[in-house]
Order: sequence, then structure tokens, then C-alpha cells
Amino acid sequence: MTGLMELQRCGDAGGKTKAGTPCRSPLGLGENGLCMNHDPARKAAAHELHAAGGRASSLAARARRVALPGDVPKVPKTLDDAVRYFAWLTNAIVTGRLDARSGHEAAFALKGFQSAAEKRDLQAEITKLRAELAAARKATPTSRLGLARV
Ligand SMILES: [Zn+2]
Repeated sequence: MTGLMELQRCGDAGGKTKAGTPCRSPLGLGENGLCMNHDPARKAAAHELHAAGGRASSLAARARRVALPGDVPKVPKTLDDAVRYFAWLTNAIVTGRLDARSGHEAAFALKGFQSAAEKRDLQAEITKLRAELAAARKATPTSRLGLARV
């Protein structure tokens, strides 16, 4: 027998896995011989530890995801900005400065911006043309335009 076999394990004190087999963990055994996961007295602490671990790893994953290159263009406001942003994005992805996943999401968001900006700009143009038309109608009698008011 080796020293490893002589290690006290959680299962020796009755700790069972979800599958119902004796728990083999030799780590962090309490006074009762149970590991943190199977010691009823330490269940809340174990849960807290798992939650903290989950938070830490999700924060780390998020940090990896948002590790952006230093030359990210400013937030686009115009269609020209969007074109410049697309150009930057393409270059950042192909040169490996931005991961493909982030690049894909950014491109998707940019397409949404582009579509909204096009509608916004068209709406502004329509509003401007309507105002010009109204002013022209006021300045010129309808009879001279050869138009009948509807
Ligand atoms: Zn255990």
C-alpha cells in the first residue's frame, strides 16, 4: 500500500457524490472528516465559494473578451464614421488585434447602427424637403406652379 491509499477521504466519513459513490476528496476535510461540499455545516460557505469562483471566472472571461486594441475608433455618429469603423474592424480582425468573436459582434452592432443612421438621415432629408416645399408653396402662388392643391 502506498501513502496515497492511506489518505483520509471525505467518503471515509460518509460523504457521497451526486452519483451516490463515496467522495474521494482528501482536501479541506472538517472535524467530521467531510469535505466542504459534503459537510452540511459548511454547505453555505461552499456555496459562497463556488459563487465567488463563478463570479471571478466570468469576470476574467469578460476581461479577456473586452481586451481591445488601443486604437479603437470613437463611437460612430455618421455613416462615414461607420465606414471608417468597418475598415478598422476588418484590419483589427485580420491582424489578430481583435478576436473573431468580438469582431463579429461589433460588425453586427455596426450594421444595426448603419441601418438606423440611414433611416435617421433619410427622415431628416424628408423633413428638410417638406419644409422647402412648404416655403416654396408659400412664396409662389399655386396657379403659377401649375399645381392644384389637393
Ligand atoms: Zn466530499
